Amino acid sequence: MPDAAVAARSSETTNSGTTQQVDVAVVGAGFAGLYLLHKLRKAGFSVVVIEEAGDVGGTWYWNRYPGARCDIQTIDYSYTFDPELDRAWTWSEKYATQPEILRYFGFVADRYDLRRDIRFGTKVKAANWDDSSERWQLVTDNGASISCRHYIMATGCLSTPKPPEIDGVKDFKGAVYFTGRWPHDGVDLAGKRVAVIGTGSSGIQSIPLIAEQAPHLTVFQRTPNFALPAHNGAPPDDRKTYFETDRAAYREQARWSLAGVPYPQETAVSWQLSDAERRERFEKAWAAGDLVHILTQLWADQAVDFDGNALIGKLIHEKIRAVVKDGETAAALSPHDHPFGAKRPCLDTNYYATYNRPNVTLVNLRQEPIKAITASGIVTDKRSVDVDVIVFATGFDAMTGAIMAVHPITGRAGKSLSNVWAQGPQTYLGLTVAGFPNLFMITGPGSPSVLSNMAVSIEQHVDWVVDRLAALREAGFTTMEATETAQAGWAQHMADCSTLTLHRLANTWYTGANVPGKVQGLMPYTGGVGPYRSICNEVVGRGMLGFRLTGPNVAEQCNDGEVVRLQPDVRLVLGMLAEMNLPQIESLGSQGARDFLTEFNKGRPAGRPVGEVGSGALQGADGPLPYRLYRPATPGPHPIVVYFHGGGWVLGDELSDDPFCRDLCRRSGMIVVSVGYRHAPEHRFPAAAEDGYAATRWIAEHATELGGKPGPVLVAGWSAGANIATVTCQLARDRSGPQIAGQLLVCPVTDCRFDRQSYTDNAVGYFLTRALMFWFWDIYCSPADRTDPRASPLRGNLANLPPAFVATCEFDPLRDEGIEYAEALATAGVQVEQLQARGHIHSSLVMVDVVITGVSARVKMAEALRGFAGLPRKLEASGEDAAPIAVNAAAG
Ligand code: NAP
Repeated sequence: MPDAAVAARSSETTNSGTTQQVDVAVVGAGFAGLYLLHKLRKAGFSVVVIEEAGDVGGTWYWNRYPGARCDIQTIDYSYTFDPELDRAWTWSEKYATQPEILRYFGFVADRYDLRRDIRFGTKVKAANWDDSSERWQLVTDNGASISCRHYIMATGCLSTPKPPEIDGVKDFKGAVYFTGRWPHDGVDLAGKRVAVIGTGSSGIQSIPLIAEQAPHLTVFQRTPNFALPAHNGAPPDDRKTYFETDRAAYREQARWSLAGVPYPQETAVSWQLSDAERRERFEKAWAAGDLVHILTQLWADQAVDFDGNALIGKLIHEKIRAVVKDGETAAALSPHDHPFGAKRPCLDTNYYATYNRPNVTLVNLRQEPIKAITASGIVTDKRSVDVDVIVFATGFDAMTGAIMAVHPITGRAGKSLSNVWAQGPQTYLGLTVAGFPNLFMITGPGSPSVLSNMAVSIEQHVDWVVDRLAALREAGFTTMEATETAQAGWAQHMADCSTLTLHRLANTWYTGANVPGKVQGLMPYTGGVGPYRSICNEVVGRGMLGFRLTGPNVAEQCNDGEVVRLQPDVRLVLGMLAEMNLPQIESLGSQGARDFLTEFNKGRPAGRPVGEVGSGALQGADGPLPYRLYRPATPGPHPIVVYFHGGGWVLGDELSDDPFCRDLCRRSGMIVVSVGYRHAPEHRFPAAAEDGYAATRWIAEHATELGGKPGPVLVAGWSAGANIATVTCQLARDRSGPQIAGQLLVCPVTDCRFDRQSYTDNAVGYFLTRALMFWFWDIYCSPADRTDPRASPLRGNLANLPPAFVATCEFDPLRDEGIEYAEALATAGVQVEQLQARGHIHSSLVMVDVVITGVSARVKMAEALRGFAGLPRKLEASGEDAAPIAVNAAAG
């Protein structure tokens, strides 16, 4: 239906008695509500929008404080659903002011004649699901109640201001304002002594302007926040040129990006860059004045690695010191308690310079908490500050506040949403809740929402929801409801995603930590906009996976299940590999496969620095073999780990698992010697096994020369390398040495049988395939030899072997033989620790710095090695282990 026809089409809304009957009711006439109304009408639904405010705009209607602007460039913070609308509006600045944004929403409302279906000045007081009519019944505080088939919350994530939580506010005789509810006719601060409490985005935007108006401003800061200069002005040329050259491509790239802004994925990791290169990147980002740029484009590990992130914090501290003249004030303004980006950083105009003004005082509440507000001002532990005006820039009950606090929502069987969410929000896709049929949330908890360009996320949600409603209607279904299984699976996926980022290290409104008593947990989805979009599409592609659909004249449909079981980064890796359309390795021949592996490895991030890397030759079973040695930076001598690489006895060499060897060395604090054993088909069974044994013996005998600790060594390996490691343990036991203190087996090959369930479940699709394993076995070992314990150690004598740590991965053909081996070792009396890595594939754990969710497994492996060597299991506490400090304890 053309847009003009939509605008002209009359609403099908009818009033029956005092109840307004519609297909869909929407709460909120902001960014999401306006597009919903337009799209629903276009799809032929009757719609009413309920809005508490007097006009459209949502958050931009309420947040009118001085300096309010968006912090995503306005070129990106726009509707894109109608190219004509996109062309019809041009923003005047890189970051538009609140009045301009509000004008934009007015323009959109007029263009599509939206206001006629919006009930302004109206609040929903209660929403109840009625099972018999399969409709939501809404009670409002102004006019007719509403009966609707579908109920959609477009209430925004930051719309319910948080109460002040400070004693004595009511006693204050001066004026009190909240940035989130700023008076529409403005506030005259001339001649007024003003206090601002709060230094989040709202405080940081308003403080410089308040300081220009008021004779004196006192800022009460609890947690310093990272702020960077917006450098507002005309939209930057590079962005404008790209946008205007190919608007469709620009918008499409944004839709599939991680943050909803068209930036590529950065690939260089921090330790690959020199200090000068890092500084250059940082200065460029600082000059760009773009939050998404500085949050994503510095280096690949900035948001996922504590150390990579800490580098940015230090550079920003330098910037603050360079601007703020008073050293103590500069130190107080410098954030130290959270990683950069884990709390929402702010874009500012003259924020830090404002503290050089003689009329501005900073009070550091970490040193002198507020005791109370009195009739004349604010009293801290150390002083009393008399003021005429207090501005609370203290934030919002984010994400759940606007959904739960606004009105009671009662779903199936009288279940209340507040009760269901008592321990934190539970959703499927951030869009729906089990037990609440036909209830939808736009940018709800569990969706990318506030960690993305909201404009892009809102459009994706609205498109998805409205398309589903249309498809439901088409198929004769009247209800749609998430299943408990799907919802629990989403919670697990959310938790997996959150381990990827550093958000867990900060107390923020993202986690609910800003509201005393609120249950804490990361609420937005951290997996990224593009991946989220592909998951939503997958739900539809797999027959509405995780939803129960019912209707009066159709059979119930329910494809139950979890949409994502893979770890999020593994899913991304597999997606990238699928896009590369790689050849089947077994079709390349052994040399072709080796060349392919060498090329493939060039694309992975460089391994992290260790104390020293050396190489040399050792004595194998039939001549010299190359080795590579990784030495920790700490003073030795260190215990030695003899490492055997993966590659099916055919591929790889002493360098091919370089990042994993470095990681083991760094985390265990031990020397790792990676052995270049002989390969098939040139050297078939038992060459690799015998080399493994001979190399271990040689290394044990030469431990002192290698700088290692004399005495027992440890062995480790991945895949076929783990097969060699454990075979070496059996041979060492039977051939009187060397002494081995422990064995680390990562996804080991332990047996030549192919009929275990994991070979069937994971035959294809997870990089190591069943066909590839067949090929490896065929090249390495004749069928007659395969039952020899040097090929199939599971068939050997397992008694009196060194203690073992066996790691297996869920989506690996070798999973079950690894688990069986661990169990058989335990039965034979060997001390065994098992780790079954959920959501991982065969290569996950060795893909260091690509599969970040493998970190906890890598930590455990290193700890196990240290335990085998008789060392304390933990090397040292890293900053990453530190818990965030409790923000709410310090003030208020
Ligand atoms: P906020 O980021 O939650 O900041 C609230 C501030 O108030 C924090 O500094 C907080 O300290 C402090 N605070 C809260 N309660 C306090 C108490 N009882 N005593 C002393 N200090 C207290 O809220 P916001 O600034 O309104 O921003 C919220 C979000 O809205 C932003 O992160 C952003 O996503 C969005 N926003 C965007 C823009 C924009 O540029 N487009 C502008 C404004 C807001 P603690 O950190 O110690 O809790």
